[in-house]
Amino acid sequence: MENPFEITGVYAREILDSRGNPTVEVEVYTPVSMGRAKVPSGASTGTHEALELRDGGSRFHGKGVRRAVENVNKIIAPEIVGMDVTWQRDIDTIMLELDGTENKSNLGANAILGVSLAVARAASEALGMPLYQYIGGTNAYVMPVPMSNVINGGVHAGNELDFQEFMIMPVGADSFREGIRWVSETYHILKGVIAEKYGKDAVNIGDEGGFAPPLKEPHEPFELLIEAIEEAGYKPGDEIAFAMDPASSEFFHPDIGKYVVNDKEYDGGELLELYKDLISKYPIVSLEDPFHEEDWENFALITKELGDKIQIVGDDIFVTNPKRIRKGINMRAANALLLKVNQIGTLSEAIDAAYTAYRAGWGIVVSHRSGETDDPFIADLAVALNTGQIKTGAPARMDRNSKYNQLIRIEEELEGIAVYPGRKFRNPFL
Ligand code: PEP
Ligand code: MG
Repeated sequence: MENPFEITGVYAREILDSRGNPTVEVEVYTPVSMGRAKVPSGASTGTHEALELRDGGSRFHGKGVRRAVENVNKIIAPEIVGMDVTWQRDIDTIMLELDGTENKSNLGANAILGVSLAVARAASEALGMPLYQYIGGTNAYVMPVPMSNVINGGVHAGNELDFQEFMIMPVGADSFREGIRWVSETYHILKGVIAEKYGKDAVNIGDEGGFAPPLKEPHEPFELLIEAIEEAGYKPGDEIAFAMDPASSEFFHPDIGKYVVNDKEYDGGELLELYKDLISKYPIVSLEDPFHEEDWENFALITKELGDKIQIVGDDIFVTNPKRIRKGINMRAANALLLKVNQIGTLSEAIDAAYTAYRAGWGIVVSHRSGETDDPFIADLAVALNTGQIKTGAPARMDRNSKYNQLIRIEEELEGIAVYPGRKFRNPFL
């Protein structure tokens, strides 16, 4: 008898991402299902991320992914066709072995991740199960609080703001739907506030759908946000709190060993004072990548000094890599993990990273990349892992809203069961 879970085909192609760059799309077939997944891509990438294979040459200015596509179609596909699509960890392990490198540089993490995610989706479809339930089981029910990046800077925008992300979190809402409504309402008021102060060309947006006004000083976005939140009828702090991701590896200058923010030089201690000042003035509850990806000592220092009060999230420093996360746990270098599936390259390893962080009592933020697609996979993943937090951009452009809309659907499906953690986003179970 035909096995409905047998992989009968795997096919990859080159498509475009939200920035107009090529990326990998993979389809996995069984006799009863097809799972499709699309691979995201970062701009402020960590040095230790798994390797995104690009072709080089003149095609797409070197960014083509034909080699990654070929690696799926010619090398990975023959190995996994015939396998049971529900053997996720087996399939992921086979791909790691086929690649044989630490950073997936042979086949490309973009090739491997596309297959890994498409396998999960094909399995969930074959079982007739929602993806979040297939990955998380019957205990997947915690909706994430959105960290919505409404003001963009750094390498994601054409302004001169050195800090990359200024985010709002609707911690006082009762449900995801209500939270995302507050975010959307605030976003539109913010547009008006910016247009009034800086003119209408200041409401152009950055890579993650947030506005990119001509600001320079790190406190300026918070002033605009306070005004917008209040005008929208919400209470800054109690109802809508702030999160920020300076993405400081991008403004650390190794030649002088200093961070440069708005043309001023800071050593680690001085930058810590700048963060303390911002946190004392504005209701910031989460701070990601306050120091560069190798600045473990300052990460540990800020966690010691501020970790009781706010969430210190590691992105470039941990790159969703269980080994680096374990080092971070031992050094108490943070108290939360940013989880980006393409930083590590397989679903199984991303889940391992999440468990490693959980066991240390850390928070987890499932995250998009600045280069995205319409694939809402991470929305399901956030619910599957009950992380209580998701970072997936402004409530604008479908590369971002595909995730928010999927979460609206999931919450509806889990009516009566879903829990929105609100202020308990760092640990929905405590
Ligand atoms: C980030 O730094 O958290 C981020 C989402 O940006 P990128 O995808 O460019 O690394
Ligand atoms: Mg980051």
